[in-house]
Amino acid sequence: MSRYIKGNALVLRSRPLGEADRLITFLSWDWGKLTAVARGARKIKSKLASGVDLFIYGSYQFYRGRGLAIVTGVEVKEHFVNLRQDPYLYTYGLYLAELTDRLIPESGLCPEVCNLLLQGWELLPEAADLLVLIRAFELKLLQAAGYSPHFGGCLHCGAPRAALFSVSQGGLLCPDCAGKQGVAKGFTLQPGTVALAKTLLKLSLKQVQVIRSRPRQEQELARIIETFLQYHLQIGEINSLRYLKSLPAPR
Ligand SMILES: [Zn+2]
Repeated sequence: MSRYIKGNALVLRSRPLGEADRLITFLSWDWGKLTAVARGARKIKSKLASGVDLFIYGSYQFYRGRGLAIVTGVEVKEHFVNLRQDPYLYTYGLYLAELTDRLIPESGLCPEVCNLLLQGWELLPEAADLLVLIRAFELKLLQAAGYSPHFGGCLHCGAPRAALFSVSQGGLLCPDCAGKQGVAKGFTLQPGTVALAKTLLKLSLKQVQVIRSRPRQEQELARIIETFLQYHLQIGEINSLRYLKSLPAPR
């Protein structure tokens, strides 16, 4: 079997290594998450330099020996210049990458997640409501990773008028079932928030970009998604998210 492999990938993370190299975490359509070294990529004349930064979508060649894979060639398909030029968009794009990196394990194929992240980076500059796009991305990423929270009525009896979101149970409960289950703690959601979550899960990321939400509904959804992520996936603190919270709300 050839040790040279070639395929499309997205750069999730890129950090300096040693004197002149870069260590890169790729998300690839054919091999899932892949960590590789780009030797000499920090030298000015390196042919790899332009293809191993965060947000690059490209076709890569790797050599897979016994140690870490080595990047041997790259053909850049998209640089996402818009994300690089705007500090807000850069940080949101970074958040999508960091969240994907935390949620997706090293092994296992994830073409659906590759498509989602690529589309997320493409749509960020043109979204009518950036925060709605981010919430939709989070919900779809959770769904693709097999952890989707349940918003379709009460988890136990299916009653449509369920408004208490139990993070530990991963979905909505009606007052009767919450009482029977002894669930005292949870987030009481506005009907509009439940409707927003269901809409974001149903529509494609591209369709979602025209939606605008009421701030309170978006904030409720943001809170339960973040609590859900920490409770079920223990993803720890995400630097870009902490930074985004310190900024004023986007346009
Ligand atoms: Zn119920």
